[in-house]
Amino acid sequence: MKLDLIAFGAHPDDTELGCSGTLASLAQAGKKIGVIDLTRGEMGSRGTMEKREQEAAKSSALIGLKVRKNLGLPDTEIQNHRAFQIPIIREIRRYRPRIVILPPFEDRHPDHGMAARLVSDAVFYSGLLKIQTQSEDGMDQQPYRPLHVLTYMLDTPFEPDIVFDISDTMEVKKQAVRAFDSQFDVADPGDEPVTYISDPAFFETLIARARRYGYRCGFEFGEPFRYSGRPIPVQSFDLLADS
Ligand SMILES: [Zn+2]
Repeated sequence: MKLDLIAFGAHPDDTELGCSGTLASLAQAGKKIGVIDLTRGEMGSRGTMEKREQEAAKSSALIGLKVRKNLGLPDTEIQNHRAFQIPIIREIRRYRPRIVILPPFEDRHPDHGMAARLVSDAVFYSGLLKIQTQSEDGMDQQPYRPLHVLTYMLDTPFEPDIVFDISDTMEVKKQAVRAFDSQFDVADPGDEPVTYISDPAFFETLIARARRYGYRCGFEFGEPFRYSGRPIPVQSFDLLADS
């Protein structure tokens, strides 16, 4: 199966926080969307790997993902080297997405920036003929490089190049984030520690941010992105002229 777009996360729940409104909107429009999480989030202070796997499955169904995978790289030990690039290259060549979305290159959690550099380099190397990979059934894969690379926002704010209108899918985004009920909007922390992200105030800031970036572009809610890499190729200014 070919996908139109793959969003990558360092941890299961990164893409929910950063771009699930956009993914849900594109899925509703009939695009084939996948999410690939690099690690299982096993070093997170709350929840277990099994619990987060269930949470990711629930969220994926809400968003309407065609594919959700976990590459099982070691949490807090993501590094940008060939051994970790290869499994990513294999997925890019398998699904051949036109668009790839990454975590931000600079963020509070070091894994996010490391994941961005790792996937960004894998996207480039995926286009090189002499880096050879095989599919699961042992067939040689063809080189392929996605056309567009964007980054979503997590904790650290940036001035976006693009704000996607998620007014119609803000509710889906809230449900997708809340699907990770071991991590977010935790009113009663139980026996586990309260974390920066488990406080219900963190969940409120997510909504406030969507309102803030949406408002700047005339939407009720929006998700901010940076466009990364080469200039955006256009053959018409219809998009700009009509808005
Ligand atoms: Zn994360």
